[in-house]
Amino acid sequence: MLTDSHNHTCHFSPDAKTTIDELIMTASSLCIPRVAITEHYELDNPDPEDDIGIFDLDSYLNTFGEWKKKCPAGLELLMGIEFGYRKDIASRLDDIADSYPFDTVILSNHMFYDRDVYYNRDIVYSLPVKERQKIYIGRMAEMADRMNGYDIIAHYDYINKYNPDVSESVMYDGSPKEFDDLFEVIISKEKALEINTSCYAARKTAGDRNILPDENLIRRYLDMGGRLVSIGSDSHTKEALSQHFKEVSEYLKFCGIKEVVYFSKRRPYTEGL
Ligand SMILES: [Zn+2]
Ligand SMILES: [Zn+2]
Repeated sequence: MLTDSHNHTCHFSPDAKTTIDELIMTASSLCIPRVAITEHYELDNPDPEDDIGIFDLDSYLNTFGEWKKKCPAGLELLMGIEFGYRKDIASRLDDIADSYPFDTVILSNHMFYDRDVYYNRDIVYSLPVKERQKIYIGRMAEMADRMNGYDIIAHYDYINKYNPDVSESVMYDGSPKEFDDLFEVIISKEKALEINTSCYAARKTAGDRNILPDENLIRRYLDMGGRLVSIGSDSHTKEALSQHFKEVSEYLKFCGIKEVVYFSKRRPYTEGL
């Protein structure tokens, strides 16, 4: 099994249901060697409907120490965080990344027109797919460029997560310039591109058979020199831990990816597929 580099618990992420005990038990029973816990950190969240905000970082640090103590041999917990990006808070997030001993820092764009995609879905999904994707991926390229305190760029397909039309996917051809801009930045900064299996899980549940990432997109990333790819289930429940890892990693291999990375103490380590 591979490291699962993106997960949430109910202790610090209000939208997650998994307790740390459930997470540890499930990871052990699935023989997952490492699990990164990457709790949501939405600084100055402007959305009044969204209860995801920030938490006390010192108490997270202390709690994580306790969690590590109850971890059985054969399972390693990596202390991570998932930053929600907005332009006006970028430098504050960079400072936080440098001030705490994180193993893994994930950077995410959850916003569309300054609201979470989930709360803005009527507007998001009324736009033509290419226009929607250009705006969203363009913003991701901006965030990757503006910030430095991160290791992994999360879920480029978050924009599609709540799409009622299950036939639509995030494809390279939908916004090639924006994807090239994003890839150029993360390759030059040696950051990793995340393949997030939760979007595929959601679409599979909706009956869609096309649950895998776009092959053109992955091949373009590799052609441009991209070497760092991470894989995360973005689990919010114990059932979702490492969900679809087997089929997605087989597919990544088919696309030419030989290894994925996880981050420990902010450094990348490879695992063969
Ligand atoms: Zn996210
Ligand atoms: Zn997440």
